[in-house]
Amino acid sequence: MGLEVGIAGVPRLRQATGAARAVLRFALDLALPQLCAACRAPVEGQGLCPACWSKLSFISRPYCERLGIPFVYDPGPGILSMEAIAAPPAYHRARAAVRFDEISRALVHSLKYGDRLDMAPMMGRWLSHAGREVLAEADALVPVPLHWRRRWARRFNQSAMLAAAVSAASGVPVAAGALKRVKATAQQVGLSRTARAANVQGAFRVPPEGKSAVVGRRLVLIDDVLTSGATAEGCARALLRAGAANVDLLVFARVADAVRTSI
Ligand SMILES: [Zn+2]
Repeated sequence: MGLEVGIAGVPRLRQATGAARAVLRFALDLALPQLCAACRAPVEGQGLCPACWSKLSFISRPYCERLGIPFVYDPGPGILSMEAIAAPPAYHRARAAVRFDEISRALVHSLKYGDRLDMAPMMGRWLSHAGREVLAEADALVPVPLHWRRRWARRFNQSAMLAAAVSAASGVPVAAGALKRVKATAQQVGLSRTARAANVQGAFRVPPEGKSAVVGRRLVLIDDVLTSGATAEGCARALLRAGAANVDLLVFARVADAVRTSI
């Protein structure tokens, strides 16, 4: 995850209270009129207001079959981007539901801090649609793990919540505990691409008890946002090193400047 906002330094008691408050707010949300998950304007029913809906940018073909980044024009089926050929990632294919922008950032943020857990099923359905090809061949989903210290502070892992929602929508099971974050990484915000890669070096590991869920399996990594790809790369390498047959990546939102084709 490239855009984690660090919460180190915030007193633990306050964080625990914040989590309790989020649960209470979720309960209240079921009873009170809904607000738009992005701009907080009142909405009919659930989810996003019409203005935010219209701004949400879903990713569809034509895109690079490897990286999933949209092409400016349609080069025909199966064409890869220059990026995919010059620097292929450890994971096989990446797919994303929407472009990372103001609206999707607000959605991810609302999920991450527990404001809008009610949005997870809908986001899961969008992810399942965007990743339908990789999910059709998948044995299990692997959420990008948080370090235990951060998960303890935040009470939940937004990638695990998305994975559960994708599992409910697609029927592909979640391989819980298949991957662990063994190093508490510094914030990725503000780091260069090289620094981000160094930051997650050795950060992920398949624990002995997770091996059976990984060896020979076709796995789909699930994360909320894809920026530099360093986190996903670290996870994919750890899974492949442990014997995974294939690792694809499915994220809710990705930074997606249109790319040129290889021809
Ligand atoms: Zn709105």
